[in-house]
Amino acid sequence: MELDFTLKKYKRLIQAIAKSDYVVFTIRDYLQLKEKPAKLILLRHDVDMDPFQQLKCAKMETDYGIFSSYYFRYTDEILKPEVLDEISSLGHEIGYHYETLTKARGDITKAIEIFRRELKYFQKKWNTVTICPHGGATVENINAYSLKDLSKLPFKLLFNTNLFSNWNNREIWGTYSIKDFGLIGDAYLSIDFDNMLYLSDTGRSWSNKYKIKDVVKTSDNLLHYPKVNRTNDVIALINEGAVGHLYILAHAEQWKDNFRDWLKWLMAQQIRRNGKLGLKLYWKITKQNQQSKIKDTI
Ligand SMILES: [Zn+2]
Repeated sequence: MELDFTLKKYKRLIQAIAKSDYVVFTIRDYLQLKEKPAKLILLRHDVDMDPFQQLKCAKMETDYGIFSSYYFRYTDEILKPEVLDEISSLGHEIGYHYETLTKARGDITKAIEIFRRELKYFQKKWNTVTICPHGGATVENINAYSLKDLSKLPFKLLFNTNLFSNWNNREIWGTYSIKDFGLIGDAYLSIDFDNMLYLSDTGRSWSNKYKIKDVVKTSDNLLHYPKVNRTNDVIALINEGAVGHLYILAHAEQWKDNFRDWLKWLMAQQIRRNGKLGLKLYWKITKQNQQSKIKDTI
């Protein structure tokens, strides 16, 4: 059986899109459409780690005349200006993947300050006009995406009592509006998901069993497509062409080009998956606590 979530498989997906009659839009271009075509695909990438892997996907897409949106987190490991420059020059959109409420540990005023500063950098360098909240579970400065980071977890667990943060980065928009920042939209908040099939590859699966914040609330329409699990299912869906509007979120870093890297990712993912189920339970228990904390800060 052919491995799923390899760059080869991603190429198959891109080829299927390219030869279909779907029109592909970046989030920026979609939000400015006066009239929406009957068949369209929004293609978005969240850059949670490994900026260099994005470049491979970006080049591949450009080869097939496809242009998409890349949302970069503002961290030292991810924000490599030379990579963003190249992706931008290939014709893709550069967006800002914000996580400022997490960075400010729930302090909205501070979060807005950080947001303003980080966004300015994106705007100045890449004319960024759209943003997207980062939803990854953060465990005390560890974003559990790699085996290296995960290996720090047991140590942290021993010495820290308040480990898990469950800030929803979208919540900074209670008192402020994104329009105040010269933006045209947010890749979640500005999209009407009622008539859109939302497909996310989070956790190397297109089904939404293991997802925490990546699940769009109104995306009940996913229920009508229980068969969407593997990339081949997404390709079949595109070939079939029955769904008019598709929104595809792909994390380039998990589409590996050799088996060793593919397996390493899978191991880290297994830990994350089980960890996430654990985190869900933890948050359920402490929900009351978290909610009162959020109210206090507003
Ligand atoms: Zn993210």
